[in-house]
Amino acid sequence: MNNNRPAIFLISCTFYIINIFLFPNIVSTWGQASFDSIVPGKLKIKVSPENRVKNLILLIPDGMGVTHSTLARWYKGADNLSNGTSDRAMTSLAIDELACGLVRTYSSNSLITDSAAAITAMGTGHKTQSGFLAVLPRRDQRELDQDHQLGSAGAKHEEQSVQTILEAAKLSGRSVGLVVTSEIQHATPAGLSAHVNNRNAMDVIAKQQVDQQMDVVLGGGADYLLPEKRKDKEDLLAEIKRQKYIYVSNREELLKTNTHRPKVWGAFAPLDLPYDFDRDPKKIPSLKEMTEKAIEILQRNKRGFFVMIEGSKIDWAAHANDPVGVISEVLSFDDAAKVAIDFAKKRNDTVVIIAADHSTGGLSLGSYQLDKNYELTPWNSVFPPLLKVKKTAAGVFALLDKDRTNIQSVVKENYLPDLSPEELKILAATFTLPTQTKEKFIAELVRLMVKRTPLSWTTIGHTGEEVVLYVYHPKMFRPTGVVSNTDIAAYMAGVLGIKLGKLD
Ligand SMILES: [Zn+2]
Repeated sequence: MNNNRPAIFLISCTFYIINIFLFPNIVSTWGQASFDSIVPGKLKIKVSPENRVKNLILLIPDGMGVTHSTLARWYKGADNLSNGTSDRAMTSLAIDELACGLVRTYSSNSLITDSAAAITAMGTGHKTQSGFLAVLPRRDQRELDQDHQLGSAGAKHEEQSVQTILEAAKLSGRSVGLVVTSEIQHATPAGLSAHVNNRNAMDVIAKQQVDQQMDVVLGGGADYLLPEKRKDKEDLLAEIKRQKYIYVSNREELLKTNTHRPKVWGAFAPLDLPYDFDRDPKKIPSLKEMTEKAIEILQRNKRGFFVMIEGSKIDWAAHANDPVGVISEVLSFDDAAKVAIDFAKKRNDTVVIIAADHSTGGLSLGSYQLDKNYELTPWNSVFPPLLKVKKTAAGVFALLDKDRTNIQSVVKENYLPDLSPEELKILAATFTLPTQTKEKFIAELVRLMVKRTPLSWTTIGHTGEEVVLYVYHPKMFRPTGVVSNTDIAAYMAGVLGIKLGKLD
């Protein structure tokens, strides 16, 4: 061990010096943070007045593990190189410079969390069980099963609700907002704006969200506002308009929104928004555009704001084991994060926190099953097939005509230019299946892509390892080391100078 010390010292010094050139504002304030010996879940934060801030921007790349960001970064570098603009190894994501720790993600009842339990931990400071949104755990499985059988209509049994950081920020006089690419009623945004023991209770969640008086709500999920789509036939869209929201449903309406009006609700799709690669840029705003508009509106409040911005569908692409979807969504999330980071760096009153809720899919750069010599994989071999795609597999499916006669041309033009006749047969065969033809087609198409790369997936569900924590604070007062997802709630409340409590 002792023999290594000079080498480690040298590496540390080199790292420090490189950092001074790359990130002078960070290195110059190192040492001001006071997070000594953090025990995960026990982070005690004393925030002195000079470290408190007005605004907090929480960005969640849902399902993004380390490998997901590695893949997106290499893709971006390769793409830059093909445009002749940079060296691929020198390319970084906007979030990279803020990495400062790791977050443990387990829930109250599982090593592997779901998004509901994860956002409850991050947003309230309480671990809870999978499927629960901003309520404490309870283990009466019979009651839970009854509730879950009710589907979107909701839950009969009530749990103890706990206040979310969004609610506490609102009470402190700040403006609050949610910006997502899934339905706004989906688990992550719902965990900050609703209290229910069933994440699938979308009708109930939608109603609670309308009662929250949030200032900016942007994403998908228009269906849950419409009487004809709701079990209780309530017209939540009319209620939103009665509350004097400006309601917008496409990109143009959002961009021309008069920022002097108080509240904006944007629902740009019946359910989730398309993947960024598949998005019609004339009709549907990007996550970056929604982020810019949300900050523009929220910052008008002199008391400050809280906003949560989610790259919701990194997780969805990873569930589908689709590397193209992962790249599409990580890069669009990173573009949105850059907006938030640039905003914060121009002022001295804003904290930006970026942390995934969990990782999804068990993505690996390297697969022995596919190639016994995979460790000799050159850098660029991952990218030629990926760089040729124009759409994700879901986007390719959406381009098929009704009788699917255009399958060959659509797949070749948008996804796999070298599609073989045998592969075409495999894809066409999915249309003869009795059910889930879309899912099976997408799964086959994704499999054909993955086998052209050294990538591999271990599961179609979530995984339980730590995720990366990224924080910007004007004085770099930030947690480091391995923390718990509940510590993020404690940190956010601390820097905002507010307390998180239980609710009646
Ligand atoms: Zn999630």
